[in-house]
Amino acid sequence: MDFIEALRAGVEHRRPTVEWLVPLLEAEGEQECLLLHAADRVRAQMVGEAVHLRGLIEFSNYCRRNCLYCGLRRHNDSLERYRLTREEIVETAIRAWRIGYKTVVLQSGEDFYFSTDLMADIICEIKSRTGLAITLSLGERDKSAYSAWRKAGADRYLLRIETTEEKIFREIHPDDDLYERKRGLFVLKGLGYQLGSGVMVGLPGQDALSLAKDVIWMHELGAEMVGIGPFIPHPQTPLRNEKGGTLEQALRLVAVLRLVFPYAHIPATTAMGVLDPLGREKALQAGANVMMPNITPTRVRPLYELYPNKICLDENADRCFDCATSRIISLNRTIGADCGHVIRQAAS
Ligand code: SAH
Ligand code: SF4
Repeated sequence: MDFIEALRAGVEHRRPTVEWLVPLLEAEGEQECLLLHAADRVRAQMVGEAVHLRGLIEFSNYCRRNCLYCGLRRHNDSLERYRLTREEIVETAIRAWRIGYKTVVLQSGEDFYFSTDLMADIICEIKSRTGLAITLSLGERDKSAYSAWRKAGADRYLLRIETTEEKIFREIHPDDDLYERKRGLFVLKGLGYQLGSGVMVGLPGQDALSLAKDVIWMHELGAEMVGIGPFIPHPQTPLRNEKGGTLEQALRLVAVLRLVFPYAHIPATTAMGVLDPLGREKALQAGANVMMPNITPTRVRPLYELYPNKICLDENADRCFDCATSRIISLNRTIGADCGHVIRQAAS
């Protein structure tokens, strides 16, 4: 399919197929501008001008896994590890609520110190004291944990599939299984979580065709939030010498996602801001409608190093909120006034 036909298929929100996804994911120059612009218009029509802010609390950098790309991987001995206490996590969430956040995202490595019960207790405490919407991003756990956390008050779960290309998945996840991760995502969906997934762009061996297949799979899953970002090689990992992804690749994927998932919540992710100081603004103008300012206590923030050159390291939570707000206002957009739950079009 040529680019114009592919763009038409996208703007008409046709069922995603590789025939129209690939030419869009490969668009360059003027075609790329047309794609990003079309996605921005679809975003405005479908989800409006509001940008939802989610306060991100990175509460532990301990991880049992060894994902080849990630600075938190277990075998990275040069990283100083930390855990926030239950009280610190709850207090950080309360602070976020006072500042004006409507959602907090609790994120960590796969750290089993935070047992099913301890996490449930934290979730319950935050929910009862603030009423905040709670998103979890804790990696893969078993069904009983997901279920307990849902009952305790968690609303959403983020678990990226990272790539659906079996060969790549196996290579970068020495201790994980693609089928298991897919199954986990369906379990989360079955438990009634608002479900987020996503991928990294620029993984070794990945091309436009594999990204297109990822998009199709996430569509089959029924993802309601889709977070993507460029892969940024970390010097203390086995993938240190890889090229990594570019902002352009990430922006094209954001735009394609907006066409395929017109009502989804799509964040302008921090990794985009690492590659370009205006990376997140560019994403917000290419289909994205969510930002996740970091509200982790600044003392431990540099230690949550998924990738190098992390941004927003020394601003406190209030300043991050103000910074995000002014970036959004500079684009003539508004801040989401409610907690920004997913929009379930078919059900309404
Ligand atoms: N442990 C949880 C949550 C923390 S990792 C999990 O794995 O789901 C959150 C996300 O960070 C991952 O899904 C991955 O896509 C991203 N990430 C990790 N290392 C990265 C890197 N080097 N460059 C870009 N993104 C990375
Ligand atoms: Fe752990 Fe998540 Fe990093 Fe993998 S991506 S090593 S699970 S923190």
